[in-house]
Amino acid sequence: MKKRANKPLIAILFILIIPVIVYGVFELNSLTADERELEKIYQRQLESVLFSINQSVQDKVSDITTMMDRDLGVVTDEEWLNELSIYNFFWGLYLKDATDASDQLYTLSQYEGRGLKQVADSIYSQNESVFDRLLQYKEAGDFMKIEKSDKQFFNKGKELDFFFFVLGSGESAKFGIYFFDAVLMIEQYLVPKFQEIARDDFILTCRRISDGYIVYSTVENIFGSYESEPIDLLPKYEIGIDRAGGTVREAVDRRKTQSMIALGLLMVVMIIGIILVFRSIQQEMKLAQKKADFVSNVSHEIRTPLALINMFAETLLMDRVRTEEKKKEYYGIITKEVSRLTNMVNRILSFSKIEASKRTYDKRVVDLNKVIEEVFNTYSYHLENNGFKHAINLHSESLHVEADHEALIEVLVNLLDNGMKYSQDEKDLVIASGLKNDMAFVSVTDHGMGIPKNQLDKLFEKFYRVPTGDVHDTKGSGLGLTIVQHIMDAHQGKVEVTSTVGKGSTFKLFFPLHKNENA
Ligand code: ADP
Repeated sequence: MKKRANKPLIAILFILIIPVIVYGVFELNSLTADERELEKIYQRQLESVLFSINQSVQDKVSDITTMMDRDLGVVTDEEWLNELSIYNFFWGLYLKDATDASDQLYTLSQYEGRGLKQVADSIYSQNESVFDRLLQYKEAGDFMKIEKSDKQFFNKGKELDFFFFVLGSGESAKFGIYFFDAVLMIEQYLVPKFQEIARDDFILTCRRISDGYIVYSTVENIFGSYESEPIDLLPKYEIGIDRAGGTVREAVDRRKTQSMIALGLLMVVMIIGIILVFRSIQQEMKLAQKKADFVSNVSHEIRTPLALINMFAETLLMDRVRTEEKKKEYYGIITKEVSRLTNMVNRILSFSKIEASKRTYDKRVVDLNKVIEEVFNTYSYHLENNGFKHAINLHSESLHVEADHEALIEVLVNLLDNGMKYSQDEKDLVIASGLKNDMAFVSVTDHGMGIPKNQLDKLFEKFYRVPTGDVHDTKGSGLGLTIVQHIMDAHQGKVEVTSTVGKGSTFKLFFPLHKNENA
């Protein structure tokens, strides 16, 4: 039964969850595509950063060479040296005449005697062909190409940085080698550039390739893997770049995890939602079923007394009953059936009032014992008539509770009614009262059919009737206990049921004691 009921739920779950899974896979795929796209963008960013840095170096070096080219032979050597030395990274300039091979070294006094000339000679001799090519460029298009070299030259333990070029042209053409301190140049011209580019988006570093010496970094601690490339005109130095917020892969991975969590949560919410909707549909269906049962039960319950009343009334009307005794018996039956009908209608009215929240209670302080006695006395004739042994066992003292008298009678009658209805073989009812945990209680105990444990919490649902075998032989509306529960709630009371199948049940109603009682 349960298995079948779950099938539609599983189907609904599948119908709704498959699109979510498909969407999830699609989303993850698109993330991978995004990742590729981001990598590309990142690569482009890296290129443009490197381009911009290279451009800065290029501009600076061109400034210097243009100045040298412009002033060569125009100003005095001293003025020329002054112009060259305005840059703090300048070490020296070696010039070799292209025509007569005479050479000259311009250098600041502190670098004199450093042997720059020997280094220049060796650079020149290793790059003669390069110089010839530079001269051709210069003469053909007045294009001053600057040549770099990643060859290492050490001078007094310090690595020398240099680039070479051709100044002037024709007769006055000179090969030039410019010695400088690349670290100082980077510090002076690239560091501001770095700071401007990096902002909060990038981590930029500049490192000497040969020994890993960090010339500059926008952050103090460098870790992780960096994309790096040598600077064009300073090939012995490289620029490292990274995104400040971690690598693209990390960002994409983060987003992937977030998306997965969001999707997971969405699925959970959907599953819960579906289950809730399904349950409420199931409950609605059950309620509809119960209502239908109710209508058929009630119709049956009304039809039986009506038929009986009709039959006996007709017999009486036709004067077919001879003896007074028989007449009395028939009147008795008619009265009994009318009261059954009245009870039935009252119960339905009581329930519909409760449903419409229109039921009001006129609460007064009453002695529970007295009300029990009252009901017991009224009922005992009925009980005897139906072959019930019955006993009353009241608490020795008055039990004052604040309650609506009519409602109290209604709950007790309901319990007694049930006790009678559901006791077929052993007809024995005990009504008792007592005190427990500062609450007054009244209990109705029968030795009837009992109620299975798993049904106990459902008894009070509206229209609910225990769906086991013979119970359907006993007519009822499934409203009695609903009314009991409602009345008890309205009295801040509670109901306790203990029952053993085949042995009987006890329904215990607890009421708060009236306050003055304790005082
Ligand atoms: P009904 O009109 O069916 O009696 P109730 O709301 O009074 O409606 O009771 C709900 C169901 O609880 C009954 O249909 C019956 O199965 C079960 N029940 C109530 N009281 C007893 C009892 N004393 N012994 C056994 N079953 C009971």
